[in-house]
Amino acid sequence: MKFATKLIHAGVHADPETGAIMTPIYQTSTYAQKAPGIHKGFEYSRTHNPTRTALQNNLAALENGNWALCFSSGMGAIDAVTKLMKPGDEVIASNDLYGGTYRIFTKIFENYNIKFHFTDLSNVHNLKNLINPNVKLVWIETPTNPMLNIINIEAITKICKENNIISAVDNTFASPYLQNPLNLGADIVMHSVTKYINGHSDVVMGALIGNNIQLHEKLAFIQNSCGAVPGPQDCFLVLRGIKTLHVRMERHCQNGKKIAEFLSKNNKVDKVYWPGFTNHNNHEIAKVQMKDFGGMLSFTLKNDSIENAHKFLSATKLFTLAESLGGVESLCGHPATMTHASIPREERIKSGLLDSLIRLSVGIEDIDDLINDLNQALEKC
Ligand SMILES: *Cc1c(COP(=O)(O)O)cnc(C)c1O
Repeated sequence: MKFATKLIHAGVHADPETGAIMTPIYQTSTYAQKAPGIHKGFEYSRTHNPTRTALQNNLAALENGNWALCFSSGMGAIDAVTKLMKPGDEVIASNDLYGGTYRIFTKIFENYNIKFHFTDLSNVHNLKNLINPNVKLVWIETPTNPMLNIINIEAITKICKENNIISAVDNTFASPYLQNPLNLGADIVMHSVTKYINGHSDVVMGALIGNNIQLHEKLAFIQNSCGAVPGPQDCFLVLRGIKTLHVRMERHCQNGKKIAEFLSKNNKVDKVYWPGFTNHNNHEIAKVQMKDFGGMLSFTLKNDSIENAHKFLSATKLFTLAESLGGVESLCGHPATMTHASIPREERIKSGLLDSLIRLSVGIEDIDDLINDLNQALEKC
C-alpha cells in the first residue's frame, strides 16, 4: 500500500459484529475471560485496548515499522525510551532540542545517574568525538525547533550501528508524511502525536515506532509497568485526524513555501529559517531525506528586540499566539520569552535564537489571507 492508502486503511477494518466502518471507542477498563487466562487478547486497558491497537497498527504502517506503542503524551514516550538506560549509561543528544526533552533528560534522569551530552549533531564528527563504551542511546530531532536545522539521519544511525548504540529520532516536526527515519537506519521513531499526526489541536498523545522486536518487548514492558497510556477516546480522535494527514501536509508545505518566500522579500524581516531555501546550511540533506520542507519556519526582524517581536505578535489576527504546532490553524510563537525562556540569553544568541525570532506553524487556511495578516502585522514593527 502507498502512504495515502495506509493513512486511511492500515490497521483498521469494519467491525465484524455491526459492519461499523469507524473503529469503535472501546471505553472499557477490563475484559471478560472464559477461564483464567482464556480471552481474546485483551485483559486490562493499561496493557491493551482495541481502539489503541488499531491506532498503533496504523502508525506502524505509516513509518514502515512492525510495531508501535501509543503514550499519553510525547513526553510519556520519551520517558519510556530513556528508561531503557541504567545508572552509569550515557546518552548523546542534539543540542537544539525540544525544551521538554532537555528538561526530562537533565532535571529527571540525571538524578538517576544517567549522563547526557548535548552537541551540534548537524556536524556528524561531533558524535564520533563523544562516543565511549558507556554511550547506549543517541537522541536526535530534525528539523530542529525553532532554528530549523537539519541533521543527517542516515549518517548518524550508521555510526550508532557500528558502535552498538540505540538511535532514536524525534520525527514530530516532519511527520511520517515528510520523513521516515526507520528507512534511514533508526531504531526508534518518536512522535508527539499532539502535533501534525492528530493535526486538530484537540489531543495530547505520543508514540514510539520501530522494527526491532527486542526493543518492542522492553518498551511495552516499561509502558505497562509505568502506565503512561492514552485513553480510547483520544485514540479514536487521532484515528479520525490521521486520515487526512497527507492532504493537510501537502497544504502545510505549499503555504510554508509561499510564506517563507514572502518573508524573505519583506523589508522588516532580517533572516528566514526554512530548510527549503537553497542557501540553508543542510538544504541538500533535507532534499534527500525529506519529501518536502514542511510548514514550520522562523524569522528575525531587522529591528531586533523583544518589544518589536511582541508588537508583531499582538498585531496578527489569523496567526494565534500559542504554544504547540502542527494543527490546521496557523500559530505564532516567541521562543525567547516562551518555549526557550529558560535558556541563558548569551547561549540563545549563540545558536541564532535572537530576541526578535518568531516561529510560525503555518496552517492550511487560504494563503492570501495568511500573507495579508503577516503583512499588516509587519507594518506595525
Ligand atoms: C511537543 C513536542 C514534544 C512533546 O510532546 P507532548 O505531546 O507535548 O508531550 C516532543 N518533541 C517535539 C519536537 C515536540 O514538538
